[in-house]
Amino acid sequence: MSEAHNLFGTLQNFDLGNGRQGALHSLRQLESAGVGPVSRLPVSIRLVLEAVLRNCDGKRVLEENVRALANWRPTGPRTEEIPYVVARIVLQDFTGVPLLVDLAAMRSALARLGKNPKMIEPLVPVDLVVDHSVQVDYSGTPDAMSRNLELEFKRNRERYEFLKWGMQAFETFKVVPPGIGIVHQVNLEYLAKGVLSCPSTVNGQSSALYYPDTLVGTDSHTTMINGLGIVGWGVGGIEAEAGMLGQPVYFLTPDVVGVHLAGALREGVTATDLALTVTELLRKAKVVGKFVEFFGPGAAALPVVDRATIANMAPEYGATMGFFPIDAECVSYLRATGRSEDHCRAYENYYRAQGLFGIPKRGEIQYSVELELDLATVVPSVAGPKRPQDRIKLPDLKREFQAAFTRPVSESGFGRTMGDLGKSFLVSATPGFHAGGGSQEPVMAPEARKHGTNPQTEMEMANNRPTPDSVVAQGVPHGGQIRHGSVLIAAITSCTNTSNPSVMLAAGLLARKAVERGLQVNPLVKTSLAPGSRVVSDYLARTGLQAYLDQLGFNLVGYGCTTCIGNSGPLPAAVDEAIGKYDLIAASVLSGNRNFEARVHQSIKANFLMSPPLVVAFALAGRVDIDLSREPLGKGKDGEDVFLKDLWPTLQEVRDLMQSALTPAVFRKLYRDFAGQNPKWNEIKTGAGTEYQWDATSTYIQEPPFFQEFGLQAGEIREIKGARALGIFGDSVTTDHISPAGSIKKSAPAGRYLTERGVAVEDFNSYGSRRGNDQVMTRGTFANVRIKNLMVPGMEGGVTRCFASKACECAPGEPVSIYDAAMAYKREATPLVVIAGHEYGTGSSRDWAAKGTALLGVKAVVAQSFERIHRSNLVGVGVLPLQFKEGTSARTLKLDGTETFDVLGLGQNLKPQQDLNLRLTRASGLVETVPVTCRIDTPIEVDYYQHGGILPFVLRQLVAAQGAGSGRAVARA
Ligand code: SF4
Repeated sequence: MSEAHNLFGTLQNFDLGNGRQGALHSLRQLESAGVGPVSRLPVSIRLVLEAVLRNCDGKRVLEENVRALANWRPTGPRTEEIPYVVARIVLQDFTGVPLLVDLAAMRSALARLGKNPKMIEPLVPVDLVVDHSVQVDYSGTPDAMSRNLELEFKRNRERYEFLKWGMQAFETFKVVPPGIGIVHQVNLEYLAKGVLSCPSTVNGQSSALYYPDTLVGTDSHTTMINGLGIVGWGVGGIEAEAGMLGQPVYFLTPDVVGVHLAGALREGVTATDLALTVTELLRKAKVVGKFVEFFGPGAAALPVVDRATIANMAPEYGATMGFFPIDAECVSYLRATGRSEDHCRAYENYYRAQGLFGIPKRGEIQYSVELELDLATVVPSVAGPKRPQDRIKLPDLKREFQAAFTRPVSESGFGRTMGDLGKSFLVSATPGFHAGGGSQEPVMAPEARKHGTNPQTEMEMANNRPTPDSVVAQGVPHGGQIRHGSVLIAAITSCTNTSNPSVMLAAGLLARKAVERGLQVNPLVKTSLAPGSRVVSDYLARTGLQAYLDQLGFNLVGYGCTTCIGNSGPLPAAVDEAIGKYDLIAASVLSGNRNFEARVHQSIKANFLMSPPLVVAFALAGRVDIDLSREPLGKGKDGEDVFLKDLWPTLQEVRDLMQSALTPAVFRKLYRDFAGQNPKWNEIKTGAGTEYQWDATSTYIQEPPFFQEFGLQAGEIREIKGARALGIFGDSVTTDHISPAGSIKKSAPAGRYLTERGVAVEDFNSYGSRRGNDQVMTRGTFANVRIKNLMVPGMEGGVTRCFASKACECAPGEPVSIYDAAMAYKREATPLVVIAGHEYGTGSSRDWAAKGTALLGVKAVVAQSFERIHRSNLVGVGVLPLQFKEGTSARTLKLDGTETFDVLGLGQNLKPQQDLNLRLTRASGLVETVPVTCRIDTPIEVDYYQHGGILPFVLRQLVAAQGAGSGRAVARA
């Protein structure tokens, strides 16, 4: 128990509502004490301010940090960094396993140094939800869920054993096992408390100190929790680890964009339509790196579940957060989801006492910019075919698909002719098809023939690793016709939507009406339903709607991310063959939030995001080049045309069922005793001990090299000389391009590594599931089958041209895999750079995108702009992010990869955002120097960079603190 400070007289009591008092650090008092105009600040800034005030210890958080943030100005310069100490951390398994590997590696490093490994211990509660590993191998059958779960455990046993070791080795590390739900929905429905308390000493008396629930998560969509008035966002695993170890999460004081919502959604419009509209609006408003705060009567009238859907898509609109302030709706949601009455009262009273209760009205807060959205203007929409911000009004989809179909590839189109559009192709019947059959034989597509590559071989992928049984389940007994624009995947997926009962019930109601009219889904469409919690199944069962979804093939396939993360599982082999053979632009429809190339499924090029009821509708239609406002979905059993409007549920129909969706007793029942409810988890063996016993033969868990030669002294910052380009990329290279989560190609370096260790192709699993093994991940860096390295024009995939002069068997300039080239450069100690366009590292927060880059030997990434998290992750692993000045790019400099690069001006006196020089020496010998901005943005990042990353920095601090006599000197009170 620690003594709470009383800086500015802010330590005060408040009424908990049950006859007892709690303590808080009062923001009202901060204003009364003349520190700053706190009550005019955006609510999100005030919540961060509370954390800065409460954690002010004169060491990591200073009084001047409190004063600076209390005086946040809407349009002030953004050079101050905020040391933000969060209350808890959430992880999903893809990012959580490598994080646990790093913690275990740090313990091993301490043990080797003769120090106490227990120094490494999370200082805030950490919850890991296993949700990213389930894959849709089976679908459309009643036992799909149990069979997918069976396979998931089979594939991931080693990882799950490791997690169980972590549960016993670390005191504050908890795991929600597989088969329970998706991290953000579980967070919203169960983990989030809204307000937290800890025992403290207040003026010499024992008391409970209350404070806002705040967090960071190792997943971009952590922002879903902003819908419940909780400040939180996605960070890289590296930052999360530092946060766990008592380091503040540092970020630049943000602009706050206020979005004034007015009016109400009209009949026929869903929360998903609203989220897609907001995404388009805010992308255009350039909110990257900013807080977005929704306010006004329209925001106040939205239920928390709709707010959460909008907040979830903050990464898609580029904001750090999409925040809704706290109000009575939040209290109702906490109550409806089974939180105790006492807790709900304390929650409401806390925020009232802080002056933080209620959605602000216009004029009450000064935002950096104010935007306006009248909810009544929102119309049914979808987004795609390649980016979530490309919203399309539903009636325009046919026209837009046709336009994208014929647009040149260089303009994000598919580069086909209208003449191709009408052709259809036969998919042969494959009843009882066996995995070892013809699908393994690559079929060369026309485009590939031209370039001498073969995209079909690119499809040797984790989600094409069928077992004989699963392929029988995925067979196409009657064959059929497919063509460009055919819907081949229809997935009700993603916490974005499955956390929102209004759209899930709407999907069920639409399915019921479709079944009643006699409509069916073509068996060539792979249909699936993967909610983010078991609560969804409970209300779909109680309302009788699951039975109708089942009849259309939307059987439950699991509780996890599935299609949303690209774990779509295999298509029927005959379908995949036909796509490759005829080079089809096939479509997926999904209620997810991302549709970047190769994210949903490697064979499906046109991917459209939409609400769950629209997913059902497009599954019925079987194609996306259709205007659902005028063309029928199909013919009913009466022979009459059935239109979307005939099936679309009314708002009243949805509202009538909503009561059944939010039953506190159901939440309480389903969110307890996870292990008891999950016998397969209990069967996983539990390791013991403080230190992890690394197994050199494991292909899942390996000790990473980050701390293997760890010394107690930081290195020196030096100029980079004689570097070669490993890759030159265009705009919008995503973290999935850099470090793919899905497939492992047999012929790729990672595939070769696994094969050499006796792993069969069907057991490759995915890159995401092998993030505990640096050997696989380094080989998988830049291995996305769709990444386009401009050094090898016309080729897709992780290839480059290598100019290593020694230690390499290939001819200089010959295309080789990026990994092989990097290793050749490493052998001759040549540093590497990556050159990129705008928005480098966009997409999910993925620390392996940075770690893999570092382990390949890349010393600097020079881009036109960076995505926020990826930039900080690069610094977090000791890679230098540099930004071209406006108007300069790889194209204007005519870079082709034959150059060598020097980064000049780098030294021990490095300052955040200072100018440096990039000197390029062309193959002709011509030398040119261009200025670049060093995107090490904050003073603490200079320290991280000097130490080779955050973790070596933290580890050295811990050891130094112990040497000074206090093993927990950096620990937070
Ligand atoms: S369902 Fe999608 S958005 Fe949600 S956590 Fe999983 S991958 Fe992320």
